[in-house]
Amino acid sequence: MPQLTLGTNLLGVPGRAVSARLSQDCDGADPAPAHDPWQTEPVKSRIMLLPAIAVLLLSACASGDSSSMSIESSSGAADAQAVNPTASTSATPQASESASPTSSKVLYLTFDDGPAASGTGEILKLLDKYDAKAVFFVYGEMAVQRKKQLKEIVAHGQTIGNHTWHHDNLADMSEAQIVEELDSVADLVGDDMAACVRPPYLGVDDQVFAVARKHGYKVVMGDLGSNDWANPPTDELVANLKSITKNGNNIIMHDGPEDRASTIAALKVMLPWWQDKGYTFETLPNCTQPLSEKQ
Ligand SMILES: [Zn+2]
Repeated sequence: MPQLTLGTNLLGVPGRAVSARLSQDCDGADPAPAHDPWQTEPVKSRIMLLPAIAVLLLSACASGDSSSMSIESSSGAADAQAVNPTASTSATPQASESASPTSSKVLYLTFDDGPAASGTGEILKLLDKYDAKAVFFVYGEMAVQRKKQLKEIVAHGQTIGNHTWHHDNLADMSEAQIVEELDSVADLVGDDMAACVRPPYLGVDDQVFAVARKHGYKVVMGDLGSNDWANPPTDELVANLKSITKNGNNIIMHDGPEDRASTIAALKVMLPWWQDKGYTFETLPNCTQPLSEKQ
């Protein structure tokens, strides 16, 4: 199975060596950049993904032809392709800002590391206001303390994805550990658990893909270009989000583990901005099926 390995500090993160090694096993994966919501935590990942590489590989996955790699593709688009390569979707790999005015434009908003005490609720209200669907990738240690917020996510018509129990790197684990990480969150969330997992730090390897697939999950990566995990000033975050806005993109933001004031402030600017540009906000195709239907 072909793999790409990069080893350098390509993200420009001080004192941090980031390596990318992405299997081109495209089943269920929508690769995208590395993220580290825990700024003080050493990166343990031996397998992290970088934005450009991820997008390139993703396009190759979607097309099945490495010679047609194009940065016009988007993670959300390939995500849709991974669900069902023949499925009709407006988020094609070729779709972009230059699409005709009559074309529908979609963004896939996702929020990791929650739920948070009040911030998740604020984000839910904002999403309601703009008729926006999103996926909340919760992790167990947080969710078990915030069961009320879990129910709130569902009550607002949003989707819950699996972000593991401990928020450790699945690529460093045995199969049994990976299963435990996934099952414990699924048990907590119950019937509301969607059949998709976003690996913490976007750490993946062949085993992670295989175990996830075996247990009914699609692996969902995404575009971390907002850098909201670093809590930048609102203006900077807004600019980051505008820079990664493209049809079909799967945008990673964070509603936790603490309340995210900058993310909320930026959403208040971006949701109407996106809407004015003609975007709608839909649930990631890989997360539309309940896990209970896959197991
Ligand atoms: Zn995370």
